[in-house]
Amino acid sequence: MKKIQMVDLKGQYEGIKNEVNQGMQEILEETSFINGPHVHAFQKELEYYLGVKHVIPCANGTDALQIAMMGLGLKPGDEVITADFTFAATVEVIALLQLTPVLVDVDPETFNIDPEEIKKAITPNTKAIVPVHLFGQTANMDAIMEIAKEHDLYVIEDNAQAIGADYHSKNEEPRKAGTIGDVAATSFFPSKNLGCYGDGGAIFTNNDELAHTIRGIVNHGMYERYHHDVVGVNSRLDSFQAAVLRAKLKNLDIYNEARKEAALKYSNAFHGNEHIQTPVRTGDCDTHVYHQYTLKIRNGKRDALAKHLQDRGIPFGIYYPIPLHRQKAYLDERYKEEDFTVTNQLVQEVISLPMHTELEDDQIKHITDTIIDFLK
Ligand SMILES: *Cc1c(COP(=O)(O)O)cnc(C)c1O
Repeated sequence: MKKIQMVDLKGQYEGIKNEVNQGMQEILEETSFINGPHVHAFQKELEYYLGVKHVIPCANGTDALQIAMMGLGLKPGDEVITADFTFAATVEVIALLQLTPVLVDVDPETFNIDPEEIKKAITPNTKAIVPVHLFGQTANMDAIMEIAKEHDLYVIEDNAQAIGADYHSKNEEPRKAGTIGDVAATSFFPSKNLGCYGDGGAIFTNNDELAHTIRGIVNHGMYERYHHDVVGVNSRLDSFQAAVLRAKLKNLDIYNEARKEAALKYSNAFHGNEHIQTPVRTGDCDTHVYHQYTLKIRNGKRDALAKHLQDRGIPFGIYYPIPLHRQKAYLDERYKEEDFTVTNQLVQEVISLPMHTELEDDQIKHITDTIIDFLK
């Protein structure tokens, strides 16, 4: 059996080596390191793949979220509702822009923001909702878009974990995650489903005016060279990263299928085990691209299991061990523990197993056998 890794980027590289190396070589010969032809080509190819009018590449996923919020013209004091159970970047940029983060609880089955909790959190100051498509599954966008419409709120999708996932609204053709709200942000961090070999990110929108605004913001607020109309940032995807992403985008559906297959094998092995809740897919609503394969361990043995896996050299992740509402940087006296019962329980129960495009059957069997034996 090959050594089990949480993410196997080396194995994946072997499959695209020629194309990646050739792209790198071209960029070196052309010295087109910034805004070169690969960046422009990648932008167009991603627009086509997602079926979205505008992709604006940038330096990382955190920047993408920040720039999306700047583009919408959100002002200090505006309240932005997001999930308590997510990576900190989501709430970080809200706070950084001096907007007011409003964290709400999530759905116990999908781990995604709970639309009923969004409704309860709306005040006259609420301006936007940031659903995070956690672990590769889209949030309940039908319900979220309806709430947004009723209360005139922006929807900013944090799509860092679900690129390539489809969302099926009632009576509509499936749309790609990140193309449903007003604007979306994604990350190309190496371990993401579409990852580069450094940092990268992008913003997507179907709104022409917003796309124009954002293209200026990423480039120091310039719409005309050396005319700075708004306060912007410097956030660019470099050409090397774009060359890697072009090679990987061609394979993204294949990669996501490999993840789904691995997830199915895990779930089949755990089927019927009373101590394990395998990931729940929400019926015909969406497809899951398994950025993470996350179990809930029900008998209070999550931490003991984690230690056991560690002793056996099986990698795992605890995403996320502390709810955002209890993080020092984001404490707020309005939060009450009883408003976060789901997140408070999830942080004690979740464990994510190795998930990548190169998992082999004997590795999956070794992982599942070890877990099932331990929980007996
Ligand atoms: C990875 C991630 C980000 C941030 O992306 P970076 O490229 O690391 O800045 C934001 N939100 C979520 C949910 C993520 O998983």
